[in-house]
Amino acid sequence: MAAGLLAFIVFISFAIGWSASWLGPKIPYAWEPNISLGQDDLSEDDRKIQAYLTKLTERLASHSEHVFPVTVHWLPDMEVTNAFATSGGHIHVTRGLLNAVSSENGLAMVLAHEYAHIELRHPAVLMLEQVGHTILYLALGLGDSGAGSLAQNTGTLSFMSFSRDMERAADERAIALLKNEYGHTEGASELFQGLLKKEDADALPLQTIQSWWQSHPATLERIKAIEAHNTELKSEAQKKDGRFNQESRPLPAWLLDALSAPKS
Ligand SMILES: [Zn+2]
Repeated sequence: MAAGLLAFIVFISFAIGWSASWLGPKIPYAWEPNISLGQDDLSEDDRKIQAYLTKLTERLASHSEHVFPVTVHWLPDMEVTNAFATSGGHIHVTRGLLNAVSSENGLAMVLAHEYAHIELRHPAVLMLEQVGHTILYLALGLGDSGAGSLAQNTGTLSFMSFSRDMERAADERAIALLKNEYGHTEGASELFQGLLKKEDADALPLQTIQSWWQSHPATLERIKAIEAHNTELKSEAQKKDGRFNQESRPLPAWLLDALSAPKS
Protein backbone atom coordinates (compact mmCIF):
# COMPACT_ATOMS: atom_id res chain seq x y z
CA MET A 1 0.00 0.00 0.00
CA ALA A 2 2.71 2.45 1.07
CA ALA A 3 4.85 1.40 -1.89
CA GLY A 4 1.88 2.00 -4.19
CA LEU A 5 1.41 5.51 -2.79
CA LEU A 6 5.10 6.26 -3.12
CA ALA A 7 5.09 5.12 -6.73
CA PHE A 8 2.06 7.31 -7.33
CA ILE A 9 3.77 10.37 -5.80
CA VAL A 10 6.92 9.75 -7.85
CA PHE A 11 4.81 9.41 -10.98
CA ILE A 12 2.89 12.64 -10.27
CA SER A 13 6.17 14.45 -9.51
CA PHE A 14 7.56 13.44 -12.90
CA ALA A 15 4.30 14.47 -14.53
CA ILE A 16 4.55 17.89 -12.85
CA GLY A 17 8.14 18.33 -14.06
CA TRP A 18 7.23 17.29 -17.58
CA SER A 19 4.15 19.54 -17.73
CA ALA A 20 6.11 22.50 -16.35
CA SER A 21 8.82 22.10 -19.01
CA TRP A 22 6.15 21.98 -21.67
CA LEU A 23 3.95 24.78 -20.36
CA GLY A 24 6.63 27.20 -19.04
CA PRO A 25 7.87 28.42 -22.43
CA LYS A 26 4.25 28.91 -23.59
CA ILE A 27 3.38 31.33 -20.79
CA PRO A 28 3.61 34.94 -22.05
CA TYR A 29 6.93 36.44 -20.93
CA ALA A 30 5.14 39.51 -19.54
CA TRP A 31 3.25 37.28 -17.11
CA GLU A 32 6.40 36.25 -15.24
CA PRO A 33 6.33 37.89 -11.80
CA ASN A 34 9.14 40.37 -11.19
CA ILE A 35 11.62 39.03 -8.68
CA SER A 36 14.80 41.04 -8.31
CA LEU A 37 17.40 41.92 -5.70
CA GLY A 38 18.51 45.05 -7.53
CA GLN A 39 19.43 48.23 -5.66
CA ASP A 40 18.07 51.66 -6.48
CA ASP A 41 20.61 53.69 -4.52
CA LEU A 42 23.63 53.14 -6.74
CA SER A 43 26.52 55.60 -6.88
CA GLU A 44 27.45 57.23 -10.16
CA ASP A 45 30.30 54.73 -10.71
CA ASP A 46 28.01 51.81 -9.92
CA ARG A 47 25.37 53.08 -12.33
CA LYS A 48 28.05 53.26 -15.02
CA ILE A 49 29.06 49.66 -14.29
CA GLN A 50 25.42 48.57 -14.43
CA ALA A 51 24.97 50.33 -17.78
CA TYR A 52 28.07 48.56 -19.12
CA LEU A 53 26.76 45.15 -18.02
CA THR A 54 23.39 45.94 -19.59
CA LYS A 55 24.93 46.96 -22.90
CA LEU A 56 27.13 43.87 -23.09
CA THR A 57 24.15 41.61 -22.33
CA GLU A 58 22.04 43.34 -24.97
CA ARG A 59 24.83 42.95 -27.53
CA LEU A 60 24.99 39.20 -26.85
CA ALA A 61 21.21 38.84 -26.85
CA SER A 62 20.90 40.71 -30.14
CA HIS A 63 22.06 37.54 -31.91
CA SER A 64 18.89 35.74 -30.84
CA GLU A 65 16.02 35.39 -33.25
CA HIS A 66 13.60 36.68 -30.67
CA VAL A 67 15.22 39.09 -28.20
CA PHE A 68 13.82 39.06 -24.66
CA PRO A 69 14.05 42.42 -22.90
CA VAL A 70 16.05 41.99 -19.68
CA THR A 71 17.08 44.16 -16.73
CA VAL A 72 20.64 43.75 -15.50
CA HIS A 73 21.35 44.53 -11.84
CA TRP A 74 24.82 45.27 -10.50
CA LEU A 75 25.18 44.21 -6.86
CA PRO A 76 28.22 46.20 -5.64
CA ASP A 77 27.93 45.08 -2.00
CA MET A 78 27.99 41.33 -2.64
CA GLU A 79 31.49 39.90 -2.46
CA VAL A 80 30.45 36.32 -3.17
CA THR A 81 31.23 35.22 -6.75
CA ASN A 82 27.79 34.85 -8.26
CA ALA A 83 25.47 35.73 -11.11
CA PHE A 84 21.86 34.63 -11.34
CA ALA A 85 18.70 35.09 -13.35
CA THR A 86 15.29 35.55 -11.76
CA SER A 87 11.71 35.57 -12.94
CA GLY A 88 10.62 38.60 -14.96
CA GLY A 89 13.87 38.85 -16.93
CA HIS A 90 16.26 40.00 -14.20
CA ILE A 91 19.97 39.25 -14.33
CA HIS A 92 22.15 39.92 -11.28
CA VAL A 93 25.93 40.25 -11.18
CA THR A 94 27.88 40.54 -7.91
CA ARG A 95 31.10 42.46 -7.24
CA GLY A 96 32.73 39.12 -6.44
CA LEU A 97 31.95 37.93 -9.95
CA LEU A 98 33.37 40.98 -11.72
CA ASN A 99 36.49 40.69 -9.55
CA ALA A 100 36.89 37.09 -10.72
CA VAL A 101 37.15 37.93 -14.45
CA SER A 102 39.65 40.06 -16.34
CA SER A 103 38.36 39.67 -19.88
CA GLU A 104 35.17 40.81 -21.58
CA ASN A 105 34.84 37.28 -22.96
CA GLY A 106 34.89 35.65 -19.53
CA LEU A 107 32.21 38.07 -18.36
CA ALA A 108 30.23 37.67 -21.61
CA MET A 109 30.03 33.90 -21.04
CA VAL A 110 28.39 34.49 -17.65
CA LEU A 111 25.97 37.13 -18.97
CA ALA A 112 25.07 35.00 -21.99
CA HIS A 113 24.47 32.01 -19.68
CA GLU A 114 22.07 34.00 -17.49
CA TYR A 115 20.35 35.47 -20.55
CA ALA A 116 19.97 31.94 -21.91
CA HIS A 117 18.12 30.89 -18.73
CA ILE A 118 15.66 33.71 -19.40
CA GLU A 119 15.37 32.98 -23.12
CA LEU A 120 14.76 29.28 -22.41
CA ARG A 121 12.10 30.37 -19.87
CA HIS A 122 13.72 28.43 -17.03
CA PRO A 123 12.36 30.73 -14.26
CA ALA A 124 8.80 30.13 -15.53
CA VAL A 125 9.35 26.35 -15.70
CA LEU A 126 10.77 26.32 -12.18
CA MET A 127 7.93 28.36 -10.80
CA LEU A 128 5.34 26.02 -12.34
CA GLU A 129 7.17 23.02 -10.91
CA GLN A 130 7.14 24.58 -7.46
CA VAL A 131 3.47 25.47 -7.65
CA GLY A 132 2.67 21.94 -8.86
CA HIS A 133 4.63 20.30 -6.06
CA THR A 134 3.09 22.52 -3.42
CA ILE A 135 -0.40 21.67 -4.66
CA LEU A 136 0.54 17.97 -4.62
CA TYR A 137 1.75 18.23 -1.01
CA LEU A 138 -1.39 20.08 -0.02
CA ALA A 139 -3.55 17.47 -1.73
CA LEU A 140 -1.73 14.74 0.17
CA GLY A 141 -2.15 16.65 3.42
CA LEU A 142 1.64 16.94 3.82
CA GLY A 143 1.94 20.71 4.04
CA ASP A 144 0.18 22.30 7.00
CA SER A 145 1.17 25.87 6.15
CA GLY A 146 0.69 25.40 2.44
CA ALA A 147 0.05 28.95 1.37
CA GLY A 148 3.08 30.17 3.30
CA SER A 149 5.44 27.58 1.92
CA LEU A 150 4.15 28.21 -1.61
CA ALA A 151 5.00 31.89 -1.33
CA GLN A 152 8.36 31.05 0.20
CA ASN A 153 9.23 28.47 -2.42
CA THR A 154 8.37 30.58 -5.41
CA GLY A 155 10.07 33.62 -3.90
CA THR A 156 13.37 32.18 -2.75
CA LEU A 157 14.12 29.06 -4.71
CA SER A 158 13.13 30.20 -8.15
CA PHE A 159 16.47 31.82 -8.92
CA MET A 160 18.68 29.26 -7.26
CA SER A 161 17.80 25.75 -8.20
CA PHE A 162 17.87 25.31 -11.93
CA SER A 163 18.37 21.65 -12.76
CA ARG A 164 21.58 20.25 -14.20
CA ASP A 165 19.86 19.88 -17.56
CA MET A 166 18.84 23.54 -17.49
CA GLU A 167 22.42 24.55 -16.65
CA ARG A 168 23.80 22.51 -19.55
CA ALA A 169 21.22 23.96 -21.93
CA ALA A 170 22.07 27.50 -20.79
CA ASP A 171 25.80 26.85 -21.31
CA GLU A 172 25.16 25.46 -24.80
CA ARG A 173 23.10 28.49 -25.75
CA ALA A 174 25.64 30.88 -24.21
CA ILE A 175 28.44 29.33 -26.28
CA ALA A 176 26.34 29.86 -29.43
CA LEU A 177 25.73 33.52 -28.53
CA LEU A 178 29.47 34.04 -27.89
CA LYS A 179 30.39 32.45 -31.23
CA ASN A 180 28.00 34.83 -32.94
CA GLU A 181 29.39 37.87 -31.16
CA TYR A 182 33.14 37.11 -31.24
CA GLY A 183 33.50 34.33 -33.80
CA HIS A 184 35.17 32.16 -31.14
CA THR A 185 34.93 31.15 -27.49
CA GLU A 186 38.44 32.14 -26.46
CA GLY A 187 38.47 33.38 -22.86
CA ALA A 188 34.93 32.16 -22.24
CA SER A 189 36.04 29.66 -19.60
CA GLU A 190 38.02 32.24 -17.62
CA LEU A 191 35.65 32.33 -14.65
CA PHE A 192 35.47 28.55 -14.43
CA GLN A 193 39.26 28.17 -14.66
CA GLY A 194 39.51 30.60 -11.75
CA LEU A 195 36.85 28.79 -9.75
CA LEU A 196 38.61 25.49 -10.30
CA LYS A 197 41.76 26.92 -8.72
CA LYS A 198 39.68 28.32 -5.89
CA GLU A 199 37.96 24.99 -5.33
CA ASP A 200 41.39 23.45 -4.82
CA ALA A 201 42.59 26.29 -2.68
CA ASP A 202 39.92 26.67 -0.05
CA ALA A 203 37.42 23.86 -0.52
CA LEU A 204 34.20 25.79 -1.02
CA PRO A 205 33.60 28.46 1.59
CA LEU A 206 29.96 28.46 2.64
CA GLN A 207 28.23 31.64 1.60
CA THR A 208 24.87 33.09 2.47
CA ILE A 209 23.82 32.82 -1.14
CA GLN A 210 24.14 29.39 -2.63
CA SER A 211 27.33 29.67 -4.55
CA TRP A 212 27.63 29.61 -8.27
CA TRP A 213 29.61 26.43 -8.45
CA GLN A 214 27.27 24.43 -6.24
CA SER A 215 24.28 25.12 -8.45
CA HIS A 216 26.14 24.69 -11.70
CA PRO A 217 27.45 21.63 -13.49
CA ALA A 218 30.87 20.48 -12.40
CA THR A 219 33.33 23.22 -13.25
CA LEU A 220 35.70 20.96 -15.12
CA GLU A 221 32.88 19.66 -17.31
CA ARG A 222 31.98 23.24 -18.25
CA ILE A 223 35.56 24.16 -19.13
CA LYS A 224 35.90 21.06 -21.30
CA ALA A 225 32.67 21.86 -23.16
CA ILE A 226 33.81 25.42 -23.95
CA GLU A 227 37.31 24.33 -24.99
CA ALA A 228 35.87 21.62 -27.26
CA HIS A 229 33.91 24.25 -29.17
CA ASN A 230 36.97 26.43 -29.55
CA THR A 231 39.16 23.58 -30.79
CA GLU A 232 36.51 22.75 -33.36
CA LEU A 233 36.35 26.36 -34.59
CA LYS A 234 40.13 26.50 -34.76
CA SER A 235 40.45 23.41 -36.93
CA GLU A 236 37.66 24.63 -39.21
CA ALA A 237 39.44 27.96 -39.69
CA GLN A 238 42.78 26.28 -40.30
CA LYS A 239 41.28 24.10 -42.98
CA LYS A 240 39.86 27.19 -44.67
CA ASP A 241 42.77 29.66 -44.82
CA GLY A 242 45.14 28.62 -42.07
CA ARG A 243 44.35 31.68 -39.99
CA PHE A 244 42.45 31.90 -36.79
CA ASN A 245 42.25 35.25 -35.15
CA GLN A 246 41.10 34.53 -31.65
CA GLU A 247 41.93 36.80 -28.80
CA SER A 248 39.97 37.65 -25.74
CA ARG A 249 39.33 41.32 -25.05
CA PRO A 250 40.40 42.78 -21.71
CA LEU A 251 37.77 44.51 -19.58
CA PRO A 252 37.82 48.28 -20.14
CA ALA A 253 40.40 50.14 -18.03
CA TRP A 254 37.82 52.50 -16.49
CA LEU A 255 35.90 49.48 -15.19
CA LEU A 256 38.96 47.94 -13.55
CA ASP A 257 39.75 51.36 -12.02
CA ALA A 258 36.21 51.69 -10.68
CA LEU A 259 36.37 48.18 -9.19
CA SER A 260 39.66 48.83 -7.42
CA ALA A 261 38.59 52.26 -6.10
CA PRO A 262 37.75 52.27 -2.38
CA LYS A 263 33.99 52.05 -1.80
CA SER A 264 32.41 55.32 -0.78
ZN1 LIG B 1 22.84 28.84 -14.55
